[in-house]
Amino acid sequence: MGKVLIIGAGGVATVAAHKVAQNKHIFTEIMIASRTESKCIALAKVLNEKYGTDVKTARVDADSVEELVALMGSYKPELVINLALPYQDLTIMEACLQTGCNYMDTANYEPKDEAHFEYSWQWAYRERFEKAGLCAILGCGFDPGVTSIFTAYAAKHHFDEIQYLDIVDCNAGNHHKAFATNFNPEINIREITQKGLYWENGEYHETEPMEIHKTLNYPNIGPKESYLLHHEEIESLVINYPTIKRARFWMTFGQAYLNHLEVIQNIGMDRIDEVTYKAPLADGSGTVDVKIVPLQFLKAVLPNPQDLGENYDGETSIGCRIRGLKDGKEHTYYVYNNCSHQAAYEETGMQGVSYTTGVPAMIGAMMFLTGKWNKPGVHNVEEFDPDPFMEELNKQGLPWHELHDVDLELD
Ligand code: NDP
Repeated sequence: MGKVLIIGAGGVATVAAHKVAQNKHIFTEIMIASRTESKCIALAKVLNEKYGTDVKTARVDADSVEELVALMGSYKPELVINLALPYQDLTIMEACLQTGCNYMDTANYEPKDEAHFEYSWQWAYRERFEKAGLCAILGCGFDPGVTSIFTAYAAKHHFDEIQYLDIVDCNAGNHHKAFATNFNPEINIREITQKGLYWENGEYHETEPMEIHKTLNYPNIGPKESYLLHHEEIESLVINYPTIKRARFWMTFGQAYLNHLEVIQNIGMDRIDEVTYKAPLADGSGTVDVKIVPLQFLKAVLPNPQDLGENYDGETSIGCRIRGLKDGKEHTYYVYNNCSHQAAYEETGMQGVSYTTGVPAMIGAMMFLTGKWNKPGVHNVEEFDPDPFMEELNKQGLPWHELHDVDLELD
């Protein structure tokens, strides 16, 4: 039924590829292409052994529109699932337009030389995708992704008016490393060292990084300190649900993690500009000036998020806490998923954060290929019908739960 090209072969792509291979009745032809083809080949071998799925592989530099066009022009996928880094979103979208492919991703575009993300760069492609009759689905991981679909589901079934939205993301797992990030360290550290931002009464309010925090209780986990962060789904949700008076995003961090982060910032290892390093020549005759970006160097020495799964215990809990009106009365609603790191590892070899992102990416692709989510233009996931997606979450390993009229702990 569907021919897909997955770009990237990291933690999220590995999970998505397992799920795609498990759903062969929908994904009939699969190619995985990335910067390092050996990783694609290793993944294809696992998928073949585990599910008997035949997966093609290729090497591509997704920063190059020319290389992408050559690959996509010859393979001709119906849908490109972009699971590389946010830096590659625009080049891949451009190549999709040039070759007539549909597009999906899990994170919004971010320029390499500026730690700043927003949708405007990708929304600027709306008219071109519309005119080409192609569909681009933005932000189909967990957050953004499932959290936006949870909001759409709440709006469809439980509220006439959503007024207060708090997205709560808790990772109560323990990987038993002194410091590690759960997805690409460079992208992760850029995200959480930014200033906080939330929406209230028609405008954005900025905070210092980690300035606002609160203890929140998570189902099956208990109390965890949760910090207000700027997160990308808020940007589209307040536009698509204009009744929202306040929208915020909270994420839990342990004290040891925050201490490491503070040191990283204090010593300049989070810098994204180039610095000059005097590297010794191999023959010992002197040094040569080499340019390095400290944050990229740090990524090279930190644990690889893909290797965290084996000893990772505990679980994640991500959901939406919503207050609003139904039939003139105020109600509260909490919809969430808990995901076990060990269960994710046993199924895919990856930890829970990669799992909670890769599974929704596969479901979004499934929605597109089965015609349930397909309209020309560039769309955030909450613009589609949430019901078939919510149904698949229960079947594909991310069951969700609802609580009605409970204390949301967030005034
Ligand atoms: P990884 O670093 O593990 O994987 C990224 C992959 O992209 C690697 O295989 C890498 O290749 C490849 N890649 C990087 N640059 C290029 C390039 N120029 N051309 C081709 N391939 C390239 O990251 P994750 O799997 O952890 O994250 C993947 C994406 O998922 C990110 O965009 C991240 O922001 C997003 N994400 C979204 C979440 C959500 O809930 N919405 C949550 C977590 C992550 P190589 O192996 O050579 O380095």
